[in-house]
Amino acid sequence: RGVINNRTGGAALDNLIELDKKHFLHPTTSIQQQQEQGVKLLAESGQGIYLKDRDGKTYIDAMSSLWNVHIGHGREELADTAAAQMKKLAFSSAFSSFSHEPGIRLAEKIAKLAPEDLNAVFFTSGGSESNDSAIKLVRHYWKIQGKPNRRKIVALKRGYHGVASASTSATGIPEFWEMAGHMKDDFFHAATPYRSTTQEAIACLREKFESEGPDTIAAFMAEPIQGAGGVLIPQDDYFTEVRKLCDEYGILFIADEVITGFGRTGTMFGLQNWEVVPDVITFAKGVTSGYIPLGGVVVSDAIHNVLKQKSKGTLFHGFTYSGHPTAAAVGLKNIELIEKEGLVENSRKMGGKLLEGFKRIKDDLEIVGEVRAKGLLGAVELMKNPETNESFSKEQKVAPRVIEELHQRGVICRSVTYESTDIICFAPPLIINERQVEEIIDHLYQSISAVQEQLKAL
Ligand code: PLP
Repeated sequence: RGVINNRTGGAALDNLIELDKKHFLHPTTSIQQQQEQGVKLLAESGQGIYLKDRDGKTYIDAMSSLWNVHIGHGREELADTAAAQMKKLAFSSAFSSFSHEPGIRLAEKIAKLAPEDLNAVFFTSGGSESNDSAIKLVRHYWKIQGKPNRRKIVALKRGYHGVASASTSATGIPEFWEMAGHMKDDFFHAATPYRSTTQEAIACLREKFESEGPDTIAAFMAEPIQGAGGVLIPQDDYFTEVRKLCDEYGILFIADEVITGFGRTGTMFGLQNWEVVPDVITFAKGVTSGYIPLGGVVVSDAIHNVLKQKSKGTLFHGFTYSGHPTAAAVGLKNIELIEKEGLVENSRKMGGKLLEGFKRIKDDLEIVGEVRAKGLLGAVELMKNPETNESFSKEQKVAPRVIEELHQRGVICRSVTYESTDIICFAPPLIINERQVEEIIDHLYQSISAVQEQLKAL
């Protein structure tokens, strides 16, 4: 049962697909589609920006898989680091003041990279755990200062913060609340700064703070650029105004840098694009380029000092894998490579090329609306009438069709179709070069052209 004796195909491949249907409950997947159509891509190996499937077809991984494979696939340096650390000390606890060098060194490194006085790191295994931890930490911070009523979290519509308990509630995409009923007590969502001015978005946030009662709000949480919401890049002054507003009401500001961290947007952390310093940063994904699960929360000295002075007894929060030594060693090596190879700079430069390419496509194809990128995080919007922002109907499935065309041509990316939008998202590995950016642009041009023709023929 399940024995694969022919690596490249035929019966063995069919067998795997059947086993997948029978036993593998996939994350964020249509179970019906999986059962009817089988797996979409059976990945076999990866090298650089490319993935190869079991049939030997090569794809450009233009999403860095899940926005996370920053240094590209197949990097032996990380495999060697993991193997060496596993042989020496694969795992040891960080509970009850136990510690180890990889955890200490990675905490120190992240504190150095994080802006200004964000210097203390709590480790987790991913983004959802990081956001849940951040929310619990800020509530604890207020509670130990005699303000237990400051519990509420204000986040943004279309924001995505993960699927654990608090992070599901903070997420502003209603589909994620449906699975197990609403979990929204003490969580509120303001309008996202998308197709609106900073002034309008800030007025909405102020109204939310006022209507909920500022002294009942623990923190405002937002991604510097909303990823799963459709790569929504705010205007340049938005986060400066957010910072001012949070300060005015004494509300903490949590930046969810799970996608934007570690060079994705052309700066080490996303908010550094606008020189804004939050009170808390959450991170995951790019910290290890996805080679091993790791995430965390960085808090400011001001928060750390309150925890040091007022926390009595044990902090009853911690994951078995908080500060996992092997994950920490891989994280350190990954960051070393990001720095040594100038990948933050490359993200900025290649992001510029990607955006130029998007603009050329927009000039040529009538269904292309807004195009945008910050570093190597970019998007192309498709519209019935870009002049008036008129959307296609959901039934036309315009963005999913483009994704399918791209897939056929060997490019993996992702569409966002909430609230009548058709957005194609891009987040290629930070090691990408100019020729490879052009490859993506060529395929994108061909794919959108094909769909434009199909729509005309309807
Ligand atoms: N926050 C953001 C901005 C994300 O994009 C994600 C995942 O895509 C998460 C949090 C959740 O991270 P994880 O899937 O590692 O739990």
